[in-house]
Amino acid sequence: MRKVIFVFLMMFLLPLTLVGCGETTQALSEYNLNLEYNDETKVLSGVEDICYVNNSDTSFKNLLFHLYPNAFREDAKNRPVAVASKDKAFPNGESYGDISINSVKSEAAELQFEIIGEDKNVLSVTLPTELFPDESVSIQINFEVKLANINHRLGYGNNAINFGNFYPIACVYESGKGFMTEPYSSNGDPFYSETSNYKVKVTYPEEFTFVSSGDVISSSNQDGKCTTHIKGNKIRDFCFVLSKKYKSSSKEVKNIKVNYFYYNDASSETSLQAACDSVAFFNETIGEYPYKTLNVVETNFLNGGMEYPNLVMISDTCSSVSEYQYVIVHEIAHQWWYGVVGNNEYSSAWQDEGLTEYSTMLFYEKHTEYNENFDDLISSATNTYKRFVEVYTSVSGSVDTSMARSLDEFATEPEYVHCTYTKGVLMFNTLREMVGQRKFTKALREYYRRYSYKNASPAEMISSFENSTGYRLEGFFESWLSGEVKIL
Ligand SMILES: [Zn+2]
Repeated sequence: MRKVIFVFLMMFLLPLTLVGCGETTQALSEYNLNLEYNDETKVLSGVEDICYVNNSDTSFKNLLFHLYPNAFREDAKNRPVAVASKDKAFPNGESYGDISINSVKSEAAELQFEIIGEDKNVLSVTLPTELFPDESVSIQINFEVKLANINHRLGYGNNAINFGNFYPIACVYESGKGFMTEPYSSNGDPFYSETSNYKVKVTYPEEFTFVSSGDVISSSNQDGKCTTHIKGNKIRDFCFVLSKKYKSSSKEVKNIKVNYFYYNDASSETSLQAACDSVAFFNETIGEYPYKTLNVVETNFLNGGMEYPNLVMISDTCSSVSEYQYVIVHEIAHQWWYGVVGNNEYSSAWQDEGLTEYSTMLFYEKHTEYNENFDDLISSATNTYKRFVEVYTSVSGSVDTSMARSLDEFATEPEYVHCTYTKGVLMFNTLREMVGQRKFTKALREYYRRYSYKNASPAEMISSFENSTGYRLEGFFESWLSGEVKIL
C-alpha cells in the first residue's frame, strides 16, 4: 500500500520537479560554464549552469558540491602541499587563494546555500523541491576563484596558470553511504566525480595560449581578449591551462590528435613521440580511447604530473629526457584508469595509481626502444619497497603497509607512494604471473569495457577480474590490500 502511494505521489510531483533542464531522459549531468579570467587580479569569475541528473535510488532535498579551491586558503586544515614540498610549490613565498559563492539560483529564484564540511570544502544547496530518482534540476552557481601563486593544479606560476578542480563539482552519491564529501589532501589526488557533459566558454587576455579538456569549437578575439568555446562529452572533469610561452607540435595516432604544449622541454619531439606511442599502446592493449584529442601540457607543477580528461599536466621540473617520457606515459595511462574508468581516488588511490603505474611498466615491456627494461623496473620496485619497510620499521618500530586506506590515513607522502604505487605495481605483477599474460590482458580489457564512463568500487574491480580470469581473487587482493603480504 505504501508503495502504491509513493508511486502515485511520484507521478503527481513529476511535472513540478523537472525544473528547466529540457531533456529529462538524459543519464548524464551537464555543466555549462561561462568563465572570465582577469590576469591583473588573478581572479576567475564564473557562472555555472548545471543540469544535475539524479541517477541514484533515493531522493534529495539538498545537493552537495566540492569546493576544492578552498584548500588553498591560509587557514585551511587540509593543505594542498606537504610541509616538505613547500619550497618547490611556492615560487615567491607562501600564497593563498579560495572560492567565493556569490549566489545560487534555479529558474531565476534564489536558493538557500551554505558552505559546510570540515574545511569549508563543500557547498550545500537546498533544492526548490525534492529531487526524485531519474529526475533532473537546473541550478546556477555564481562564483569567483582567487588564485594562489603556487606551482600546483590550481594556481599561477612563473610560466603558466593551471585551472584544475576550480569550479563547484557535484559530490558523488553512493547508495547506502550518501554524498562523498572527502576534503583535500596533500597526499595523492583527492578527487571523485561522475562522468558528465560539458559546454564551456572561457574569456582570457589574448596574449595567452589556451589549452583545455574537451574539444575547442570556436575562438574569437575582441578588445584584447580571446573567447574560446569548448565542448566535452562524457568527461569526468574539466581543466584548462594558460601560458604566454607555449610552443606546440602535434601528431595524429589512431585518429586521435595528440598535441604537445611546452616551453622548457629541450627534447620535445621525443616527448611527443612517447605520448603517441603510449596512446597507441594503451588503445590497443586496454581498449579504445574514446575522445578525439589529447593535450600534453608542460606547466608549473611541483613535480611529476597530473591527469585530467583529455589533458595531462607535465611538470617543467622534469630533468631528463627519460623523466619527461616516464611522466608522460604514466599520466597518459591515467586517461584509461581515472579518465574513462573512474574510482574514488580519496578512499582507494591504489585502484587507479597502482594500475596506472603497472600499465606504464607494461608500455616499457613492449617498447624496448625506450631502454627501460621491464624486469629491472620490477626488481627496482621490489628493492625500493623493501627498503621503505626496513627504514620505517627501524625508525618507528613498525610499519603500516596496508594499501586500502584513505589519503588522510597515510602518515607521510613516502608511505602513501610506496603503499599505493610501488606496492600496487608488485600486486598487479604478481597477479599477472598467477593468471598468465593472456588472462590478465583480458581482465584489463573487460574491466575497461564494463566500467567505461562509470566509477568502479574496489569490490566491483575485483569481481570483474574474477569473471575475466576464472579465478577467485578476493583473498589475493585482500591479503595485499590489508598489508598481510610480506615481500621478501
Ligand atoms: Zn598517477
